[in-house]
Amino acid sequence: MTGVNPILTGLACRCPVCGRGALFRAYLKLHETCPECGADLRAADSGDGPAVFVILICGAIACFGLLFTEVSYHPPIWLELAIWLPLAVLLCLAALPVFKAVLVTLQFHHKAEEGRLDR
Ligand SMILES: [Zn+2]
Repeated sequence: MTGVNPILTGLACRCPVCGRGALFRAYLKLHETCPECGADLRAADSGDGPAVFVILICGAIACFGLLFTEVSYHPPIWLELAIWLPLAVLLCLAALPVFKAVLVTLQFHHKAEEGRLDR
């Protein structure tokens, strides 16, 4: 286990080893090595995990908001779609790097890796 808090480090999108270096070199592209400590980040693989969490959580928030405005204010459907569809997309785009960073830092914290057979 490493010394950094994996959740806080992930929320800040920082290196899972030192907690200081930037994790991303582009929107969802990880650095191959940490710019601060040089830790090898090539093994980091969050797979589809971040997308699943983002779809479930942001979809629930957007659906709740849409239903709340429908029940409370009865706006025309075009207005609800004009508000909630872009908001859902922006929410997903904003949350995706954060969820990816948290899952990568948790992967490093728990030393999770592909299973292998010992022979
Ligand atoms: Zn580092």
